[in-house]
Amino acid sequence: MQTMPIIRKDDFPILQKVIYGKYPLVYLDNAATTQKPRQVVEAMTEEYYNVNANVHRGVHFLSQQATELHEASRETVRRFLNARSTSEIVFTRGTTESINLVASCFGQAFMKEGDEVILSEMEHHSNIVSWQLLQARKGIRLRIVPITDDGQLKMEEYEKFFNERTRIVSITHVSNVLGTVNPVKDIIRIAHEHSVPVLIDGAQSTPHMTVDVQGLDCDFFAFSGHKIYGPTGIGVLYGKEEWLERIPPYMGGGEMIKSVSFEKTTFNELPYKFEAGTPDYIASTGLAKALDYVTSIGFDAIEAHEKDLTSYALQRLMEVEGMKIYGPHDQKTAAVISFQVGNIHHLDMGTLLDRLGIAVRTGHHCAEPLMRRLGIEGTCRASFALYNTREDIDALVEGIQRIKKMF
Ligand code: PLP
Repeated sequence: MQTMPIIRKDDFPILQKVIYGKYPLVYLDNAATTQKPRQVVEAMTEEYYNVNANVHRGVHFLSQQATELHEASRETVRRFLNARSTSEIVFTRGTTESINLVASCFGQAFMKEGDEVILSEMEHHSNIVSWQLLQARKGIRLRIVPITDDGQLKMEEYEKFFNERTRIVSITHVSNVLGTVNPVKDIIRIAHEHSVPVLIDGAQSTPHMTVDVQGLDCDFFAFSGHKIYGPTGIGVLYGKEEWLERIPPYMGGGEMIKSVSFEKTTFNELPYKFEAGTPDYIASTGLAKALDYVTSIGFDAIEAHEKDLTSYALQRLMEVEGMKIYGPHDQKTAAVISFQVGNIHHLDMGTLLDRLGIAVRTGHHCAEPLMRRLGIEGTCRASFALYNTREDIDALVEGIQRIKKMF
């Protein structure tokens, strides 16, 4: 059965590219970054050509127009996450910066030597190293929730980690390697029973499912624009107002101050307290356009389409002799499949697939501790987006079969 993509591939000019004489490009590296629709790129170009001026400070026409656009984008993000107020939406450079902000500022305010943060074995380096930097500064302890062999969090172990030194939980919503969708609602409920706040790394969930931060009741939530069809260099930290009020600023500079003297500086109100320097107001417009794009298609349609692709891919990949798939082999997987074929090195597989016009990612996927847990150095990873089709998966499987014959 052939499926239609749920959107027109020609919204994405890059997908029309011929690579090594192969057409069309089969782009299956969406967990690393997604391609951008014309609507996003054109809105950003339009702003540069017709509106560009620094935001917040100017009394002149263009500055006011740019400010209105930037703040309207914040409102779009608020709606997208169902946050209570735009005060809770901090623009950052991406998930990494958002997590570093929380580790650094929450750590400064609320953690001292011997205090503990709970992470998991499937975290991206961003959600490990940020805490290790705090560990080096303050001597905090990292507690790591183990996973099962099929890539699920051991929830009974998680519950056992809470004690009087637990200060925060920081866990990914969806694994960028295994595609596991973590039971974040339970994770948050259990943490709150112990009066411990939770940061959710939403880099890999926001492109694929509805996120409702009030429904989840998370305390912090981080995501990146470029993984959800938006521009690079912009992301979001959602934080409950009561937490953002209580933690100190991250960086100092313009925008984040109320008044400055050499004796005493006071800080701006939320969310500007966390936004030092000129913000990327062009990227915020691009991000808002990307969120509008996704919202106009709707997550019901996106989820149905991507679930179909994922289960079709799992079924087709399993036809390949010597195929090993890491993580849950069922529909719980969120559009990410990591695999290894016999003893063909993942780098060889990825390089040869590339020559066939198929882009996948190879390596440790910024999750070296997870690789160690799985006893491997790396995998090939195929990850899907709303513009992918079953034909893309057929091309991947045919490509793998061809490469297998060469070995
Ligand atoms: N967390 C997860 C689960 C990711 O997959 C990624 C990127 O791959 C990140 C964090 C870091 O995102 P960024 O590089 O956009 O800051």
